[in-house]
Amino acid sequence: MINQFKKNGFDAIGWGWAGGEVTFNPHFLTILDEIQSYKMKMTTNLVTNLSQSLKWWKIFVENTKKFKKVRVNASWHKEYLKEENKKLLFKEKLVFLKDNNISTVVNCVMLPGELEEMKKLTDFFDKVQIPVMIKACRDGGKVIKGYTKEEFDYVQKQIKHKNPKVMLTIDDDNNEYYYSSAEQLIAGSNLNFLGWQCTAGYQSITISENGTVTRGSVCKPQILGNIKTGFKIFDKVEKCITNWNCHCGSDLKMPKWRSDEYNMSEVGR
Ligand code: SF4
Repeated sequence: MINQFKKNGFDAIGWGWAGGEVTFNPHFLTILDEIQSYKMKMTTNLVTNLSQSLKWWKIFVENTKKFKKVRVNASWHKEYLKEENKKLLFKEKLVFLKDNNISTVVNCVMLPGELEEMKKLTDFFDKVQIPVMIKACRDGGKVIKGYTKEEFDYVQKQIKHKNPKVMLTIDDDNNEYYYSSAEQLIAGSNLNFLGWQCTAGYQSITISENGTVTRGSVCKPQILGNIKTGFKIFDKVEKCITNWNCHCGSDLKMPKWRSDEYNMSEVGR
């Protein structure tokens, strides 16, 4: 994988881990060790429910020291985090990670009618300067019905403690729009890029739990192989052939453009 990305001209790799609870895979820390043994700039981004003990997170901190940047996206599952002691322990683990130079963010899905609860959650973490990203609930790639305008605005405008310029879109009239997260863009739009040039598959790949390598998460019918038997990354940027809403944050972040006037193939090099 690393050699194929190098061949495509990339000298840095960002690893993203999500799905199930990755930290309970007994090989996870060993895999992180192996990745860091390569002489290449690496970053890592983990989505977790933080259910491992504080002792385990101490080992995680030690085992990720050679990454240029480590980010932990902690999923706040409000249905399991009802008692005060559980909430405090969740926060304690995040503060520990933050104090050890790990970039931390809390993710929470807001259902219609939960705006006040989300504001309280944001305040809870605001005190320790940890950003909270509130997401709208989606079903089949589309945001479910029932949100008020105020709730929608809250999802789209939240930028506290966050870089407000994480993502950029440019429209046909050359207007630029910045977003602090992919979620802001996903929340209010139907994002169909059929026929656009997209760097997914060339600059990024997705690996499922069974080892299948695909172009992306939304475009998973485009199979590139399997990590056990071999796979081939695209050797050039290809058009999107998926007529679905590109609603997955990691897919959406991959540079894509309709007209070659805005070719963004150099982004990320
Ligand atoms: S990442 Fe999105 S835009 Fe790119 S090929 Fe996949 S579905 Fe299409």
